[in-house]
Amino acid sequence: MSHAASLATIATINENIVLSMLRRRPDGMSRVEIARETQLSAQTVSNVSRRLLERGLVREIGNRSPGGPGKPAVILQSDPDGAYAVGVHLDPGLITCVLLDFCGTPVAQSHHLPPPSGVARDTMDVITEAVGGLLKSSGRSLEDVLGIGVAAPGPIDTEEGALIRPRLAPGWAGLHLAQLLEEQFGRPSLLAKDVTAAVLAEHWVRPTTEHPHQAFLYWGAGVGVGLMLDGHVHEGASSNAGDVGHAIVDPDGPICECGRRGCFGELLRPFRMVLEGLRTGALPAPAGWDGGTDTGSALSAREVDQLFRMLWSAAELGNPAAVAVVERALRGAHLYVSNLVALLDVDQIVLGGPSWEPMRAIFLPALADLGTANGRTVHVRESAFGGEVAAVGAACLVFQSAFAPSGR
Ligand SMILES: [Zn+2]
Repeated sequence: MSHAASLATIATINENIVLSMLRRRPDGMSRVEIARETQLSAQTVSNVSRRLLERGLVREIGNRSPGGPGKPAVILQSDPDGAYAVGVHLDPGLITCVLLDFCGTPVAQSHHLPPPSGVARDTMDVITEAVGGLLKSSGRSLEDVLGIGVAAPGPIDTEEGALIRPRLAPGWAGLHLAQLLEEQFGRPSLLAKDVTAAVLAEHWVRPTTEHPHQAFLYWGAGVGVGLMLDGHVHEGASSNAGDVGHAIVDPDGPICECGRRGCFGELLRPFRMVLEGLRTGALPAPAGWDGGTDTGSALSAREVDQLFRMLWSAAELGNPAAVAVVERALRGAHLYVSNLVALLDVDQIVLGGPSWEPMRAIFLPALADLGTANGRTVHVRESAFGGEVAAVGAACLVFQSAFAPSGR
């Protein structure tokens, strides 16, 4: 690397360090505070701030008294209009799109049902229309957008930007999502596994050093776990970490596609719980329901969502059949999460995803006693992004690749 090139690299690294610091402090910081916290020199912080102001990535928001001797200092803050990214979350039950500003706030979002055909081409049509509609409704154009991130069920091939063969959406096998989106919109596109995107959303938007070891329990059409270990989003050797599907938590549980009984992913996925609810009379059979197969094709994504909400509501109201279905799932989840906490020594569990919301009133208290697992404190909380978390994380992928390519 030439001397000039290495200086340019250092300048970029310093810009990214300052941007990262400002993300940690949404109320803003003075140049003196930035220098102190980043250990960059005052001159470097001054130069970096000037360049970031010129690029519109930070803004000055007036003066703040230092709270002691000395004159008030100008406060710098990330500029929400500095950059935008689109995030698309492709779940077999729901397609979610968000437009994220540079401060990590979703300024527009939309939800769409996946096409009933389950075919990749039809799905691409839905995504294309959704992204176009999102930009239109927010008054933004493609030129305002740095790129498009996509979160999708694993397994994925990040090199190719393609889905391999999602268990719950076999029709998407081989879909080269990133490439197709780049061709369609002419913006850089990136792909990550849904659970990885969920963790990234938490990590990027409000970086904190408080809980560097955490697990994200994700509920979509399927169940997964995303990991942050030692302050880094953990993707695994093939970027497919977090496939918890076939850990057995209930030896008498329902039969899974792998041939065994009571796999965590099978017991806890919304369709399976709905099926158990229908079989035990906890839920009323929808029109045309014939007792059904286990494949999930007998119910539409919308029906599964509606029935899943009804099941948890009925359990909240004390319907014995619904309580039985829910409690069985909770026992499995509790066993699984306890093991996860012990295995990975995480100190925070975060919950979210498109199917999470109906479960929260019963599920959160059920995990409360994890707080004393192994005689130490395990924090259990909901994601601030709820059902949109993976879409937000997908947009964060774009910001991360532009402003923190080392992953920090
Ligand atoms: Zn299984």
